[in-house]
This record gives sequence, C-alpha cells and structure tokens, in this order.
Amino acid sequence: MITHAERMQKKKEVVDRKIAAAQVERGVLVVNTGNGKGKSTAAFGVVARALGHGMRVAVVQFVKGRSDGGEEAFFRTQPGVAWHVGGAGFTWETQDKERDAAAAWLAWKVACEHLRDPGVGLVVLDEMTYAFKYGWLDVAAVLAVLRCRPAEQHVIVTGRAAPQALRDAADTVSDIAMEKHAFQAGVKAMPGLEW
Ligand code: ATP
Ligand code: MG
Repeated sequence: MITHAERMQKKKEVVDRKIAAAQVERGVLVVNTGNGKGKSTAAFGVVARALGHGMRVAVVQFVKGRSDGGEEAFFRTQPGVAWHVGGAGFTWETQDKERDAAAAWLAWKVACEHLRDPGVGLVVLDEMTYAFKYGWLDVAAVLAVLRCRPAEQHVIVTGRAAPQALRDAADTVSDIAMEKHAFQAGVKAMPGLEW
C-alpha cells in the first residue's frame, strides 16, 4: 500500500515541476470581477504586499464611494502610495451622465500617468469596469495603454461585469461568486469589514 509520505513525495515532484516550468518574469494584468465580496479588498491586500517589497503603488478609484473608508485612511499614510479618487460618485447618486463620464475620463488620465511610470510597480484601477459598462471609457483604448505599460508593472482592475475583451487581455482573472452576503440579512455595512 502506498504510504502518505510516498503520496506526498509524488505530489511534491508534480508541484516542483510546475514551479520549475514557470520561469517568465514580467508585469501581470489581474482582473477581480463577479458579484461576490472581495474584489477591491483583494486588490488592497496586494497593495500591502507590494509595499512590503518596497514597491511604489498607485490606486485610482473610478467610482467614488465613501471618503471615510479605512483602506484609504491607512494607505494614504504610507510612503510610496499615490491614492486618487477619481469618480464622481455612484451613478444612481449623481444621476448626471455627463459628469460621471467626465470624472471617469479624468481618473483615466491620472491612471495613464502611472501606467507610463516604470517606478510604479503596481497600479490598482478600482471599480474601473463600470466605466466600460456605462460607456465612459472605451475598452479597446484602455487595453492599448495597458499593453504599452512598463514591462515589470502589475495592474489590477476591479469591478463587477468585466467586459470579455478585458478578461481576454488579462493574465489572471478571478470571478468571485456570491454565495451569501450579510447585507441581504439586513446587516449594515460595518466599519473595518465593509469600509
Ligand atoms: P470589497 O470592497 O468588500 O472587497 P467588492 O469590491 O467585492 O467588495 P463592490 O461591488 O465594490 O464589491 O462593493 C462595494 C461595497 O459593497 C463593499 O462595502 C462591499 O463589501 C459590499 N458588497 C460587496 N459585494 C456585495 C454583495 N454581493 N451584496 C452586498 N454588498 C456587497
Ligand atoms: Mg469594490
């Protein structure tokens, strides 16, 4: 009978072979999408990880939610972080299509500055997918800029309903499903967890 140690040794060989085969070093385009919770917070986890390596990080938020979020308060105190809140607000709050589009365009212009700066190791484009959904930005034009970014630079795009062209262009796509969310049971957005 095969022992646990033998089974683990076989598994180790398979894992080691896969690790040895992955030799490419370059910037990676990540998309965190889907209806489940965790798209933005996963991106902010990577911000912490990158800062821990001494990298410079830029975060551009395309939909301005609340301005008292814990992540913004924390990361703004960190050297090496450029944090830009670019959006005008939730579409159902502003109710002004022209203003939303103009705000998204300005946010994109700020993002473009970082996307051409090789000193910035990670760019987070938070809630950017809504800019495509509402037609504020053209996905092909955005992808053209992403393709020309510095070779070592990582980019994370978050937001629900990522367009297919963005998924196709990305190296890593996480489609986070919602099984349940406390909000559905009437729990308020709790500080420290939801914002
Ligand atoms: P988080 O910032 O918590 O990672 P997210 O980026 O995945 O969430 P968004 O659609 O950006 O999700 O949600 C913004 C806010 O709504 C956050 O406070 C988030 O926790 C909450 N939220 C996320 N998913 C759901 C959901 N399915 N139902 C209700 N609230 C949600
Ligand atoms: Mg989010």
